[in-house]
Amino acid sequence: MKKDDIIELTIEDLGIDGEGIGKADGMALFVKDAVVGDWIRAKIMKMKKNYGYARLLEVLEPSPVRCTPRCEFARQCGGCQLQAMTYEAQLDFKAKKVWNHLTRIGGLTDLAVPEIIGMEDPWRYRNKAQFPFGTDKEGNVVTGFYAARSHNIIPCTECWLGVEENREILEKILAHLKKFRIPAYDEKTGKGLLRHVLIRKGFTTGEVMVCLILNGKTMPKMEQLVESLREIPGMTSITINVNTKNTNVIMGTEMISVWGRDYITDYIGNIKYQISPLSFYQVNPVQTRKLYETALEYADLKGNETVWDLYCGIGTISLFLAQKAGKVYGVEIVPEAIADAKVNAKLNGITNAEFFVGKAEEVLPEKYKNEGIYADVIVVDPPRKGCDLAALETMVKMHPERIVYVSCDSATLARDVKWLGEHGYEVKKVKACDMFPGTVHVETVCLLSRKAQ
Ligand code: SAH
Repeated sequence: MKKDDIIELTIEDLGIDGEGIGKADGMALFVKDAVVGDWIRAKIMKMKKNYGYARLLEVLEPSPVRCTPRCEFARQCGGCQLQAMTYEAQLDFKAKKVWNHLTRIGGLTDLAVPEIIGMEDPWRYRNKAQFPFGTDKEGNVVTGFYAARSHNIIPCTECWLGVEENREILEKILAHLKKFRIPAYDEKTGKGLLRHVLIRKGFTTGEVMVCLILNGKTMPKMEQLVESLREIPGMTSITINVNTKNTNVIMGTEMISVWGRDYITDYIGNIKYQISPLSFYQVNPVQTRKLYETALEYADLKGNETVWDLYCGIGTISLFLAQKAGKVYGVEIVPEAIADAKVNAKLNGITNAEFFVGKAEEVLPEKYKNEGIYADVIVVDPPRKGCDLAALETMVKMHPERIVYVSCDSATLARDVKWLGEHGYEVKKVKACDMFPGTVHVETVCLLSRKAQ
């Protein structure tokens, strides 16, 4: 088998990025866009010693779990790796991915495939969208999404993961740019004005926010655009974010108020959050609630516990826990997120939550050494790379009864679970939660308890 050969094969498995895996001549072949159960014709693109990559040419016999992607751009965009699979099959894939990591890397040999919390309607779940603006070959201003691994914009104002208002807002902005001949930003020359549009919607409140990210501080005839955008039901906040740097980072730091409030509000459960264009906020609030309810259930609080919430972001989990705990301490590296956490605590009249800015792996050991802090329960929700060893070591020293590990990467979760297993904590419960239908991502909540000595 060599490059450019055309072969036929059956897809037997899916890789962690959702690519199909099949065998030909005893070699494993990775085929993007092929679904487990498909019989396909493919072209070899690259061969390594023991495996290779092939491109899907034709589905000869579709898998029973193959379906037609709802989005016509699913293949070009690459944002949704699993749209060609039925939702049930996506959930199955994700639960098995978590199980695979926890058994293979985590060494949990007798773990059953975990339950996964899916969505009733796995579409239009994202409350946040960022659309890039650019210019097509004919010189028209366009918006859409970047084609996979590039900065070429494929024109499209409709993403099935986003809210319906996105389209209307984008069409209004495009019309405005066209009418007044306002150019989109050009990454190559650094000229032009509109770079991105950020749209957020509070799913519970219906409040909508539009933030124009400009290579400058004003947009011509802004008042007319505001008049037009105000027609959108729920419009609450229109702002400008200034970003004049030649960078891939979407947002700059300077914010300018244009119309309405500078933030929107939303609820997860009964906790209210204030969200500004620069704040971090979970993008799927419906599933976030289910995820945090699971974390809260695993924490099993009776009312007087001391709880540490590491990697707390804007305090989403901390405030959830505070309602049931004696005291909650949150630790987070981003100072602005901690500022939001404090505002949100106040907004909800929560007085038993305290927040610290810093690295979990530095704040925790320091507090442990200097103040002899302890915890009944520790909750962690680290970024993809998982917990730092120094954080894990201090967690164990603090002797909590329970550790609730919320994870967006089951491979690093498995690594940390193994380490905790070797240091006195055993896994009691695991549940996966589908926060990002259509994509390969999956969240996991894991309950670990201190082993009896
Ligand atoms: N639990 C929060 C956010 C979790 S995302 C929520 O649900 O809203 C992970 C968070 O960890 C991010 O906010 C990130 O800024 C923070 N973070 C990353 N590295 C960190 C570190 N070393 N110490 C503390 N926080 C960190």
